[in-house]
Amino acid sequence: MKKQLMEIIVSAVIFIIALLVKTDIWFIKLALFLAAWLVVGWKVLWKAIRNIARGQVFDEDFLMTIASVGAFIIGEYPEAVAVMLFFAVGEMLEKAAVRKSRESIAELMDIRPDYANLKTEDGLIKVDPDEVNVGDIIVIKPGERVPLDGVVIEGISSLDTSSITGESMPRDVRENDEIISGCVNGSGVLAVRVTREFDESTVSRILELVEDAAAKKARTESFITRFAAVYTPAVCIAAVLVAVIPPLFVGNWATWIYRALSFLVVSCPCALVISVPLSFFGGIGGASRLGILVKGSSAIEQLSKAEVAVFDKTGTLTKGVFAVTSIVPAGVDEDELIKLAAHVESFSSHPVARCIREKYGKTPDESIISNVQEIAGQGVTAEVSGEAVAVGNARLMESVGAQFTPYDGAGTVVYVAVDGAYAGCIAVEDVLRDDAKETMAELKAVGVKRTVMLTGDNRKSAEKTAEKVGIDTVYSELLPQDKVELAEKLISEKSEKGVMLYAGDGINDAPVLARADVGIAMGGLGSDAAVEAADVVIMTDEPSKIARAIKISKKTMDIVRQNIIFSIGVKLLVLVLTAFGVVGMWAAVFADVGVSMIAVLNALRAMKTE
Ligand code: ADP
Ligand code: MG
Repeated sequence: MKKQLMEIIVSAVIFIIALLVKTDIWFIKLALFLAAWLVVGWKVLWKAIRNIARGQVFDEDFLMTIASVGAFIIGEYPEAVAVMLFFAVGEMLEKAAVRKSRESIAELMDIRPDYANLKTEDGLIKVDPDEVNVGDIIVIKPGERVPLDGVVIEGISSLDTSSITGESMPRDVRENDEIISGCVNGSGVLAVRVTREFDESTVSRILELVEDAAAKKARTESFITRFAAVYTPAVCIAAVLVAVIPPLFVGNWATWIYRALSFLVVSCPCALVISVPLSFFGGIGGASRLGILVKGSSAIEQLSKAEVAVFDKTGTLTKGVFAVTSIVPAGVDEDELIKLAAHVESFSSHPVARCIREKYGKTPDESIISNVQEIAGQGVTAEVSGEAVAVGNARLMESVGAQFTPYDGAGTVVYVAVDGAYAGCIAVEDVLRDDAKETMAELKAVGVKRTVMLTGDNRKSAEKTAEKVGIDTVYSELLPQDKVELAEKLISEKSEKGVMLYAGDGINDAPVLARADVGIAMGGLGSDAAVEAADVVIMTDEPSKIARAIKISKKTMDIVRQNIIFSIGVKLLVLVLTAFGVVGMWAAVFADVGVSMIAVLNALRAMKTE
């Protein structure tokens, strides 16, 4: 940077001397101009030669080289130097702007922990988080960043989770609470048993997502690559035509060659090439600051066209934290019913299973459980002390042939059958997420036309939830494969250009997440399958962030479009003006640098999410 600035100053000084020197000896002036030109231009010249050697002929360095060398040949020395000088100034400013924006995004993403305090026999030692294994004990002191995911085994503190979730409320943690890496510890000292290696810890996953995001290219970006492939040769041919055809009729070769050279300078599409990826990068960075991870620029493009928003119920619109509301035994006593259910559910990660285990309160005796089978969207079957026990919804009861009495209260119902005979049911209830209701209104405000809920839960409970949330259409009692089929139907029903997005928690719906135009995973910190399959991950589990994400994506796409139209528009105008000799090479370079700068500044707006 400093070196570049020095070169520009030195070149400018020589340039001014060259302009002022009065001499009749032509080569003194030429030598001065050449010196000024070489100081700023040698790198460009060198890059152009190197790229030609590699077979990449038509790039900006090539255009600048041809234009300035050509200007020297036709005797327009000041022009030749000015082109390079402007180009160098423009490059420097652009680099500064790009670096600035990269830095602010990197700052947002500055969540990578530097070390972990590993507890060993010889006391605490500072190690690289990479070297810590699952099961190791680490100590997190006040103000330190949590280096790895784990469970607190000692201590009380509050965590600042804002860099991970965008949530500014501190989260209190104590013994047995899970904590995730990337958060900053408050005032307490915590001893933590590590549950995930560094590579699988939350921080690594987030960084990976954002880094991958930069690599995945949107169609708009590949549009630029295709555009450049046609555009650059086209302008070169046009330049040759401008240089050759008119002088055949009207003569005056030097003028037309000069115009053709200016034409080449203007044609350089730098503004597009820099500003479009930068706009996407800005949008992704801005979203990540709110706890919304968007995996790549094509997800931004898709989100901006959202027309149908489809939601899973449990864990997405509801918190997925159930509580048992009533227990209706049939034939066995209440404690026995819960005990059986908790044993069958002992390995399931379904929210319903978690709540039944909690109700039981004791650790299930694993030695009496065998043959556990989880049936997605229905429940679990297992052998407990030799008896075949089924725990799940009505569909599961039907498939094991149990004659059950349908429960007529509200909520989700879990039926239990032992050896094919109905043994009672457990009613559980979940609560809506705080922002579920406002989400629907916000989605409509950002252009979503239709909201749909898909759930494996029973119809009564599904309709009650849908009504509370205010969702347009509900489909209930679905198996995972039904959800995929319905997703396909919803995709076929929407308009050609519209996009269907699906938000789920990944439990029994990972296939839909993958099938949707845009899959949005809730509980980014929970289900790995969802995070893998999704295009967007909402770290805070707030459905309202989906509306925010759409808003950001729309703004980003607007900026991308503005930049494309603005730079191509100005380019075309200046191209025509130079071809007809209305403006010269100076103005052409000035226009080019100006357009690039404005486009880059505009791109930076994408990062601001108020
Ligand atoms: P959703 O679509 O609302 O997320 P799921 O597809 O995960 O619901 O589950 C659908 C229904 O299947 C649940 O409402 C529940 O009745 C039953 N079910 C699924 N898994 C289990 C389980 N592990 N234990 C008991 N019931 C289950
Ligand atoms: Mg679910």
